[in-house]
Amino acid sequence: MSVVFIGAGPGAADLITLRGVRRLAQAEVVLHDALVDPALREHAPRARWIDVGKRGFCDSTGQARINALLVRFAQQGLRVVRLKGGDPSVFGRLEEELTALAQAGIECEVVPGITAALAAAATTQRPLTRRGAGRSVALTTAMTKDGALRAAHSADTEVFYMAGRQLGALSRRLQTAGWAADTPALVVSRAGFADQIASDHQVATLAEAALLHSGRPTVVTVGVGACAIAMRAEGVSRPGTKIARNQSLPAPQ
Ligand code: SAH
Repeated sequence: MSVVFIGAGPGAADLITLRGVRRLAQAEVVLHDALVDPALREHAPRARWIDVGKRGFCDSTGQARINALLVRFAQQGLRVVRLKGGDPSVFGRLEEELTALAQAGIECEVVPGITAALAAAATTQRPLTRRGAGRSVALTTAMTKDGALRAAHSADTEVFYMAGRQLGALSRRLQTAGWAADTPALVVSRAGFADQIASDHQVATLAEAALLHSGRPTVVTVGVGACAIAMRAEGVSRPGTKIARNQSLPAPQ
C-alpha cells in the first residue's frame, strides 16, 4: 500500500521530472488537480484519471473527500498517484493528505516538481537571486486561511501566490508592509504554458495588471528578482520572453 505524490510542474507537460513520468506510468489511479496539463495523460493512458480539482473538491469538505479517496484506493491495493500542479510541497495541501495517509498506515513518496515561482523566473529570465542585492527569496501566499489578504516584506525577493484576484489590495498591503512604491513587481499568469502572459509594474501600480491577467493562475514577484537583467544595448530583445512593458523599470542592481 502506497501513494506517490508527484509535482506535475506549472504548465506544459514536459516540465514534469523524469522520475515523475516513471511513477506516473505505473499508476492505476491518478487523482489530479485542475491545473494539471491534460497532455500528461499519455504517460498513464490505462489509469483511471479523477479530477479532484473541480468545484466540490475545493473547500474543506472537498479536502476531506480527497483524503478519503486516497486512503480507499490505496487500501484496495491500487497503485495511486496524487498529481499536483507545480510542486506538491508549495501551497498544495500536502500536509493534510500526508497526515491522512500516515494515520491510515499507508506509505508515501513525494516527487518534487517545478513550482510556479520558478517557472515564472525561468520564462521571463528574471533570476530570483542576484549577487549582492538579492540574497533571499520568500514564497508567500497573500491569502490567509480565512480569505483575508496579507502581505509581508520578509525577503529581498518575494513571490506571492493566489493574489491574482486582488492585485489592488495587494498593492496597498505591500506598501503598508514597507515595500517602496517604486519597487519592481512582475506579474506572470499561466507561467510555463504557451499562452503565458508577463507584465512589468511597480508596487504602487499593481492594480493595472488586474484586467490583463484576469481569471488566470498568477504569481506576483516583488523586489530585486522582478528586475530585468542589464542589457548591453537598449532595445535588444531576448528570445522566449514576452513581457508587456507597462512602464520602464529602474536600473537593475
Ligand atoms: N503547488 C503549486 C501552487 C498551488 S496554489 C505550485 O507549486 O506552483 C495555486 C496558485 O499557484 C495559483 O493561485 C497561482 O498563484 C499559482 N500558480 C499555479 N500555477 C501557476 C502558473 N502556471 N502560472 C502562474 N501562477 C501559477
